[in-house]
Amino acid sequence: MAELFAEVVIMGTALNKGLHYSIPSRLAAKVQPGSRVSVELGKRKAAGIVLCVGDSLPELPDTIRIRPIRDTIDEAPAMPPDLLKLCRWVSEYYFYPLGQVLDLVIPFGWSEPVGPAPNGPGLKLVRLVDCQAGESLKSEKSKEIVRLLRLAGGTALLRDLRKLCKNPDYSLKKLIRDGVIAVEESKARPGADTPASSKAGTASPLLCKGGQGGFSNLWALELTEDQGAALDQTAPFMDNPSFQPFVLYGVTGSGKTEIYLRLVEKAVQCGNGSLVLVPEIGISAQMESIFRERFGAGLAVWHSALPERERKRAWADIRSGRKKIVLGARSAVFMPVQDLKLIIVDEEHDTSYKQEDHLRYNARDVALMRGKIAGAPVVMGSATPSIQTVHGCAEKRYRSILLPSRVMNKPLPEFEVVDMKREGGGQGIFSFKLREAVGETIRSGRQALLFLNRRGYGKYYVCNACGQALQCASCSVTLTYHKKDDRLRCHYCGWDTPLPERCPVCAHAALFPHGFGTEKVEKEVKRLFPDARVVRMDRDTINSQDRLLSALDAVRSGKADVLLGTQMVAKGHDFPNITLVGIINADAGLQAPDFRAGEVLVQLLIQVAGRAGRGEQPGRVILQTYNPSHFTIESALKLDYDGFCREELMSRKILQYPPFTRLLKMLVTSPVEQSARDGARLLAVVCREKADRFRNTGRSVAVLGPSPAAYVKLRNRFRQHLFIKTWTSSDMQSFIDCVLESIKGDPSFRSVQITVDRDPATEM
Ligand code: ADP
Ligand code: ZN
Repeated sequence: MAELFAEVVIMGTALNKGLHYSIPSRLAAKVQPGSRVSVELGKRKAAGIVLCVGDSLPELPDTIRIRPIRDTIDEAPAMPPDLLKLCRWVSEYYFYPLGQVLDLVIPFGWSEPVGPAPNGPGLKLVRLVDCQAGESLKSEKSKEIVRLLRLAGGTALLRDLRKLCKNPDYSLKKLIRDGVIAVEESKARPGADTPASSKAGTASPLLCKGGQGGFSNLWALELTEDQGAALDQTAPFMDNPSFQPFVLYGVTGSGKTEIYLRLVEKAVQCGNGSLVLVPEIGISAQMESIFRERFGAGLAVWHSALPERERKRAWADIRSGRKKIVLGARSAVFMPVQDLKLIIVDEEHDTSYKQEDHLRYNARDVALMRGKIAGAPVVMGSATPSIQTVHGCAEKRYRSILLPSRVMNKPLPEFEVVDMKREGGGQGIFSFKLREAVGETIRSGRQALLFLNRRGYGKYYVCNACGQALQCASCSVTLTYHKKDDRLRCHYCGWDTPLPERCPVCAHAALFPHGFGTEKVEKEVKRLFPDARVVRMDRDTINSQDRLLSALDAVRSGKADVLLGTQMVAKGHDFPNITLVGIINADAGLQAPDFRAGEVLVQLLIQVAGRAGRGEQPGRVILQTYNPSHFTIESALKLDYDGFCREELMSRKILQYPPFTRLLKMLVTSPVEQSARDGARLLAVVCREKADRFRNTGRSVAVLGPSPAAYVKLRNRFRQHLFIKTWTSSDMQSFIDCVLESIKGDPSFRSVQITVDRDPATEM
């Protein structure tokens, strides 16, 4: 037998290629792509993942001695092949070492060997029987058993069935006698978690019984016509799974969640796995209870706040195929779901899908690539799809599915606008109208939600005469005030200027600084309504899952009159008693020094407004703004998201911004301010020189900057950045590969750290 070799990538290292090891014959059967192995690296022991196995080696320098793999760590490969492929793509696309990608994907310290799935007698549905008819289906118990089995994809373990269905034996025996169900003894075997063996022998996990109404509530909710049509459109891709992106474009309260549930149900029935991504812990808490009720034991929940032990267990449950549904935030996109044939990305526009440190990936984009690799439909839902997604629909790369009205034809809330320029006094927090409305709401025993848009963009100046914020001379971005050198600076191109005495637009001497926080608003609420019970939700007050749950619970159970908060209160929540939404400072996002500012703001305002009037009572939304006639604000007021997208796409095209171009941020940081500046300047020189060469071969690259980042100093590091713009993704790939290659090991960059952020969420 020929000697076998494996290419192994060492976990956690910055080495960007695999190392070669020989495979001892005793391990020949066990070492496969995706296997975790222990190897020697220099003098130490290290863990690695096998990329590929072959019987030859590439040309290697003579000095390299090929060492044997010491052992495998798990019974079966830790990484299924599709996930390994995804990780390789992620590593390349985000310019991040593969070993570190793998380290992030496999939970830290995860060492439970991937063993065979749990065993015991298995049950298999033989006939597909009609629940209403059929000799042996006379008893309720028999019906329930068949339903459970169907939902479990046709097979289940007796052990699991017993957990969900009391005393099933009598009915079960009858079903077996009548040939509706067959018993099969599942044997323990190594590698039982490979798809082939799990289909053949061991059974898929069984679902839990529903809530109060038992399992029947699955069929109780009649779908609306739009919901039905949405499912029909996706049906072919569920029956014969293949890659297809869908955009479920449904207004707030249109019943998108029910569609997700039905899709997952269908995947379960086919014996397939599903991955459901939701933006933040906040929503997953709410979604979790909904999904738990339907899928019980078949569901694994995954988010960064999970304790270590639960993370490991969830990973093992999913990897072994004991569970086949994952509901989770961002990083759940890397869960090793078996037979993955459905991916759902809820609120796909949400910026929390973007990871802003280490591996700077966007889970929404990674989900698409995962769907492509797995051959699965990807359903991206939103009331306000991202501009990128809208563009994808226009280009017919995505199929859009519309849900244009709320369930039960509940009206969408109506906006009332308050022009804060005319208000005066009150510190710009409460207009007369909003104050009255909050008082009225509290008196009538309903709840008010007050939203403060505070994205921490720092201080900026607005002219109280014309409402214009001070902007850069050559970019459509708001200038940020820097106290240290008393200047206003553009965070896109780096241009700066001292604070002018008069507004450059209307020449009035009426420039005032802006920006305040929730604490101040809370104080003001308490001053105006001393008896009101206020719940505040922001990053300062809600720093744990428990706090979040208790805050949400206080609102739901009526222990609060006013819910006050930032972005956290805007999303997903379904509070039927909230009839008033007050948007304190609609403009804050408008002034963000970022080309996406308008997009993010409209999305946010429409989301916040969507929290009102979800119960019996219609909703009212009061929006305070200094710019009532600004296009972005107007679009939100009219709930005209389509109109906004048309205009926005047009202007992005003119200004050559994404989605018409590709953007990448290079962040240069150092504990020494001067080093960061020098490093960034030098990097820009390298980039410009490479860009010139690129242009000579007919490819276009633009280099912008360097300039100080919006947060000039974070965690004691000074930050400078520059932006790279290309017109195709492949140009970006080769350009950055070329730049990174040329600065690798260059001593002039020794004192700085360079971070690459592809498709950055912001320009700051
Ligand atoms: P979205 O996610 O689109 O904002 P939800 O999924 O939260 O909307 O649905 C809004 C409300 O409508 C929820 O309370 C949900 O239970 C209810 N709902 C969804 N579909 C139906 C239906 N077919 N019939 C009745 N109520 C429904
Ligand atoms: Zn500028």
